[in-house]
Amino acid sequence: MEQAAAVVIAADTLRGFVADIFTAAGCARDEAERIGRYLLSANLAGHDSHGVIRVPRYVQMLQDGRVRAGQRLTIVTETPTHALVDGNQGFGQTVAPLAVDLGIAKAKQAGIAVIALRNAGHVGRVGDWGEQAAEAGLVSIHFVNVAGSVLVAPYGAAERRFSTNPICICIPVEGGPPLLLDFATSMVAEGKVLVASNGGKKVPDGALIGPDGQLSSDPAMLYGPLGNTRVRDATKGPGSLRTFGEHKGSGLAFMCEILAGCLSGGGTAGPEPRHGIANGMLSIYLDPGSFAGAGFAQATRDYVAWMKAARPASPDGEVLVPGEPEMRMREARLRDGIPLQAETWSNLLATGEELGIARPEASIPHRDPR
Ligand code: NAD
Repeated sequence: MEQAAAVVIAADTLRGFVADIFTAAGCARDEAERIGRYLLSANLAGHDSHGVIRVPRYVQMLQDGRVRAGQRLTIVTETPTHALVDGNQGFGQTVAPLAVDLGIAKAKQAGIAVIALRNAGHVGRVGDWGEQAAEAGLVSIHFVNVAGSVLVAPYGAAERRFSTNPICICIPVEGGPPLLLDFATSMVAEGKVLVASNGGKKVPDGALIGPDGQLSSDPAMLYGPLGNTRVRDATKGPGSLRTFGEHKGSGLAFMCEILAGCLSGGGTAGPEPRHGIANGMLSIYLDPGSFAGAGFAQATRDYVAWMKAARPASPDGEVLVPGEPEMRMREARLRDGIPLQAETWSNLLATGEELGIARPEASIPHRDPR
């Protein structure tokens, strides 16, 4: 069972605290604020796995030189419809939006663009990049891998060969939030095991597999014995995550390695050892104006309405489109605040304290409404 949250904290307060931490850790203020904004965006969407729980790990990576402050993109090759860009191991929250801006500019000119980003620090919640393109009126498709991070067993294996390799497809909707499919190809994102290891929501049975092929839900399979460590190390566990959808999810994860890792030149999950991890992201941008034009918006609206009108499988059920759960969660968390587990909160405070940042005033102990 999920433990009650230790605190509930207003999004703005938490964002400011995170920005202060990264400023003290050596980032320029605008980059620190950007990191805060995107980590909070994940918490607001309900993906706590990609939110502020990452702060101690990001700070450690900055201190170890595995991620670098103040980086820009290097253009490796470029045509009017494509570019290969290098993130120079900069923060994903800095280099990914620059790569998306480039894709938007090219797709606005040519109707379509493909951008391969390599050597980016952790790009976090990939949905942020789909939403950025949707705000510019573009459809986008993103295949992501994590060079140097091996966490997930392929279908039929009891040993790691992939990372959690997310895929995102985002569709702009005039006058409303976009349709947003955004998930890891592992049954659960690594960060969800991280949340579970901190006393948060448990991962489903069979999300992990032991070296003997036995299915498991124990976070220790990924991190080894769960001591009182602030930064969990996913290289330490004896087991692996599993892909979703048996051979189908495994096939998608495999193609993420090829598209985002091999085609970008940024590298795959292995076998070469690497100093730190880096995201690769192959993104395709499509301007609806170059395809069905105005008919696209109407056809999408009509189809969404028809799909949502499908008879629910249970009397109290409801059919949602991709992106709807995150949109509802964002509304609720903006209104009610962001709940954080005790361990996530204490790790965050300890990281702040080491950098001389005062504990935020506005944290309020969580009161269970039941
Ligand atoms: P998830 O399993 O929660 O799936 C989320 C997707 O499913 C969303 O598109 C959501 O709208 C949709 N969805 C959920 N419930 C639904 C319902 N009832 N009806 C219709 N659609 C529904 O996501 P996840 O696999 O845990 O991934 C979480 C986040 O982790 C993502 O934002 C992903 O980009 C990120 N991630 C990043 C990396 C990285 O290396 N940067 C790696 C892995 C995952």
